[in-house]
Amino acid sequence: MTALIALITGANKGIGLETARQLGGRGMTVLIGSRDARRGRAAEAALRAEDIDAHFVELDVTGEASARKAADWVDARFGRLDVLVNNAGIAVRGGPPSATSLDAMREVFETNVYGVITVTNAMLPLLRRAPSARIVNVSSELGSVTFMSDRSGPAWQMPASISYPASKAALNMVTAMYAKELAGTPIKVNAANPGYCATDLNGHSGFRAAAEGASVSVHLATLPDDGPTGTLWGHIWGAPDSPASGELRFLSRTAAADSRPPPPLSAG
Ligand code: NDP
Repeated sequence: MTALIALITGANKGIGLETARQLGGRGMTVLIGSRDARRGRAAEAALRAEDIDAHFVELDVTGEASARKAADWVDARFGRLDVLVNNAGIAVRGGPPSATSLDAMREVFETNVYGVITVTNAMLPLLRRAPSARIVNVSSELGSVTFMSDRSGPAWQMPASISYPASKAALNMVTAMYAKELAGTPIKVNAANPGYCATDLNGHSGFRAAAEGASVSVHLATLPDDGPTGTLWGHIWGAPDSPASGELRFLSRTAAADSRPPPPLSAG
């Protein structure tokens, strides 16, 4: 059987690199999306040294031309795409809501929201050609209004800010709407919640390893055909670990994209 083809954006480091490593370890051909050729090639070389079939592809998610070029390359080389992990993301300190920098807001949304739409739309024709494609949008529980507004929850200790949480809230809705549009197809679209992981994004202050966060994306990228679509799923900050579930647990549904009844409006 030919290997499944998986593209991971922002795969040159952090959770994206670990996602590529884990999907590659399962025998997939992994396409290392990176906006910087030097960093992308270094990640490609590191994974190849581990016998993973890794290929660097230049991809700045904020550029439509870049996404089109990457899609053309995937098409010419492989003719289809089985897995798309929209992992690339940034966090910019924008200050409290009352002093929000709109420049910071725009910068974060360009990558975390518009970038996902840009790449997904460029890759969709290739994903439709795969027998059972999966799209994973790497989001966060910080994008959950319920979670962020819970005075007794762990997020309450964080200072209020808009840009990053709002971008992930928007991404959850983006996920829900793609899942709705694609509900009649084999393609599943889910949002991953990696949990708080030590990476460059947060100055390595997270208490989970990047590999643990990546395992959430891997789970959603390898869902069976009767698996869910339109969900936000992963590790919940503050929840006790459960070895039986591998620390992965259902977080909230974001879409009524299958036959089950819709979630309450406060979820997600
Ligand atoms: P890192 O900063 O380690 O990695 C981010 C990756 O995104 C890098 O490869 C970076 O590339 C890439 N990137 C940023 N902007 C672009 C762009 N315009 N085009 C292409 N690639 C880009 O962070 P993480 O690994 O922690 O983050 C990965 C994802 O996980 C993000 O979406 C983040 O929001 C999410 N997440 C992270 C959590 C955490 O605790 N770490 C928790 C919840 C969600 P470059 O090296 O060129 O900058």
